[in-house]
Amino acid sequence: MAFASILDNLPLEKSDTVRSFSALIASKDNAELDSLAGRARALTRQHFGRTMRLFAPLYLSNECINSCRYCGFSRENPILRVTLSVGEVVKEARHLAAIGFRQLLLVAGEHPKFVSRDYLAECVRALRDDFSSISIEVAPMETEEYIPVVEAGAEGLVVYQETYNRVIYDQLHLTGPKKDFGWRLACPERGYEAGFRRLGIGALFGLAPWREEAIALAAHVEYLLKRCWKSSLTVSVPRLRPAAGEFRPRFPMNDRDLVHLVCALRVTFPQVGIVLSTREPAALRDLLVKIGITMMSAGSHTEPGGYTGQGREKVHRTVRGRIMPPDVSPTEACSRRDALPRVQDSPRRVPPEDDPNGIATAQFEIGDPRSPQEIAAILRRNGIEPIWKDWDAALMER
Ligand code: SF4
Repeated sequence: MAFASILDNLPLEKSDTVRSFSALIASKDNAELDSLAGRARALTRQHFGRTMRLFAPLYLSNECINSCRYCGFSRENPILRVTLSVGEVVKEARHLAAIGFRQLLLVAGEHPKFVSRDYLAECVRALRDDFSSISIEVAPMETEEYIPVVEAGAEGLVVYQETYNRVIYDQLHLTGPKKDFGWRLACPERGYEAGFRRLGIGALFGLAPWREEAIALAAHVEYLLKRCWKSSLTVSVPRLRPAAGEFRPRFPMNDRDLVHLVCALRVTFPQVGIVLSTREPAALRDLLVKIGITMMSAGSHTEPGGYTGQGREKVHRTVRGRIMPPDVSPTEACSRRDALPRVQDSPRRVPPEDDPNGIATAQFEIGDPRSPQEIAAILRRNGIEPIWKDWDAALMER
């Protein structure tokens, strides 16, 4: 059975696992939440030891043909854009390797003209000798399209459903291939068939009521643990951050609720990795790493070229698919953009301050600006060993 049927039937029928997860995320007083956190902490140590996998996102491109109302890269936003060449990607990656990273997440918006399957495979091939684990977070593809990327050396596929609420999904994804809810929902299975060894899923909290979203996410985790049993699974719980487009979360999730969710996920799925990005503020990250998180990013940039300034001379604006000079003012770009179909009640879309150094615009603001070394030191102070590398392809060789 496809997960879509399970999802649509969730209001009427829940598995035992999802029912007990629903009870765990029900409203709790402080003493009950403390007790849940204690269980989560113990289970994390039991299944993962005192370790934390560290990874870095590397943005390849911020071009995008989709219109997602909450995202800074959305096609309407007259932001500064760029796609790195393979050589520029390698330079960014070498900077990360010099810091110590061996686990990389390649991220790109959806634009077949700039981010093709062949380009992705070429990037992975160019990086695989320096990184033991390369994952991709890009537009969903067919199984056959993933295969060359896996063969090039990518081992992880990350795809967040954003929201599992079909109505809200439709309202937030205005145009572009991403509007197809079902195509995205079945993406992890296509990646699994292609041979990805790690799968990552998640929801973007703030788009829909968090408990409803969490129940659907838990059902998805349960489904994929059975359906894609040969891959290891991670789950992410990102919350919306400020970005170009000035989208405001309709259902904000507070820090206490996020802690509650991480605890409930850990207690329900003791063996599943939980990922935390630099979206969250430092103090909250320091708390969550002690409770249930097993993998985190550090020192992240969410713009292509953000680590070393690669691609700076190519930065431009993209207006109706055409490349325009970066000095076209956002106002002028907005007025050219106005020829695009308008959507009623669409939020005002203006870019954040353009970077004075001419770097492409970031996808969102990060909440924890500390360096990877600072994060590693804090982990050690908490008795947690930072893990820069936990896998090598040689392990698979006979
Ligand atoms: S969320 Fe992804 S698909 Fe949507 S606009 Fe942003 S980069 Fe493009």
